[in-house]
Amino acid sequence: MSRYAAQKKQVVEACLTLADRGYLAGIGGNLALRLDDGHFAVTPSAADYYAMRADDICVLRLNTLEKVEGDLKPSVESGLHAAMLRYHRQHGASVHTHQPLASAVALIDHDIPLLPGDSLGEKVALIPYAPSGTGLLVLALARRLRPDLSAYLLRNHGVICAASSLDAAIGAVSRIETSAGRLLNALTGRQPEPHPALAALIQTALQPGPVA
Ligand SMILES: [Zn+2]
Repeated sequence: MSRYAAQKKQVVEACLTLADRGYLAGIGGNLALRLDDGHFAVTPSAADYYAMRADDICVLRLNTLEKVEGDLKPSVESGLHAAMLRYHRQHGASVHTHQPLASAVALIDHDIPLLPGDSLGEKVALIPYAPSGTGLLVLALARRLRPDLSAYLLRNHGVICAASSLDAAIGAVSRIETSAGRLLNALTGRQPEPHPALAALIQTALQPGPVA
């Protein structure tokens, strides 16, 4: 039995929670959990979350992505998760979603402003497009990681965020989705923005400008 059995079970449970909430969009999205200084658990590639077992979760070395446990192929976004966990050393979990509203914002050139005081930072920062599952995408993210921002919006794709635990990451995913909805409502003029501080942030986000 794997010494990481309990953590693998946590990953499966987190996947089911996110899948039930519609944040993974079928077999999209993937999750990672730091196991110790040198290893992390990650979901397998193209996983059917409702059929996934704890033994299907892969264990990879954080520095080299070498697989040390698991019969299945690890997620093609393992490099993204490793970049997040290597950089944000205070965080234990990294979650990549194809959540609907944030993914809609990912189709347009805007960050997603977050409510003041959010532990993720002031915004979900937009990362320029690179094809999913490639080193180019890992590089595009790695070059833009900031200590004060734990969530990033992958252009034309989805979200990746890091948090202290899988539960905290699930909460973060929900807050990002709510914030994306707020931004889309503001963009389409369907709702007045109730929170003055957020209205100012959205106004800033709506200013056209170059995307770094
Ligand atoms: Zn994806």
